[in-house]
Amino acid sequence: TSFQVAIDGPASAGKSTVAKLVAQKFGFIYCDTGAMYRAVTLAALQQGVAMDDEAAIIEIAQHLPLRFEAGDPQQVFLGDQNVTQLIRTSEVAANVSAVAAIGEVRTAMVAMQREIAATDNIVMDGRDIGTTVLPQAPVKIFMVASAYERARRRYEDNKQRGLPTQSIEALQAAIELRDQKDSTRAVSPLTQAPDAIRLDTTHLTIEEVVNEISEIIEK
Ligand code: C5P
Repeated sequence: TSFQVAIDGPASAGKSTVAKLVAQKFGFIYCDTGAMYRAVTLAALQQGVAMDDEAAIIEIAQHLPLRFEAGDPQQVFLGDQNVTQLIRTSEVAANVSAVAAIGEVRTAMVAMQREIAATDNIVMDGRDIGTTVLPQAPVKIFMVASAYERARRRYEDNKQRGLPTQSIEALQAAIELRDQKDSTRAVSPLTQAPDAIRLDTTHLTIEEVVNEISEIIEK
């Protein structure tokens, strides 16, 4: 069986940046599970499905033509459409928590995630990896940072990528709302696994976080 590193935490805590670097360093594959929920949400929006039409959203999740391709950043495809940028819009961010709260959507995503994890050593980031997707993972990290710091990082990130961006204040409000929805949903809410190591990255550089996790893996 493969070696698994589970990284969970609230929105924009730096999970994907750090997870990618750790994967690179150890030669593990990387799986961004948030991208999967975002892709379901985007597909529903593109098909004009109402966000409260659970049956239609479940249908989409169960037949999602999702593909990842190597690249920096990793490229995400829905069928032939490259949706790498489209899954990052504020419209998708505003709707993804509702989609991710649907139990059958989660069942479909978790099945895909476990299939991916079975293929190779992996770093997987999300909200429920240590609690639900890979509860046997030997390394579990719960990454947190202040809401302001997370909004500030997202803002800088958007600007760097040349994406249109809301103000830091608006981003912080959206992030806090998404955290609240993710933490209070009935199915697999965002919560720290009892055996996860909590890492507050508010005052840490990316390199420091990568080093801390590397030490934990090597132990
Ligand atoms: O990580 P990211 O911010 O891209 O995740 C987008 C959304 O997808 C989260 O706010 C959450 O609602 C959902 N999600 C989830 N479980 C995961 C990963 C993401 O519910 N494992």
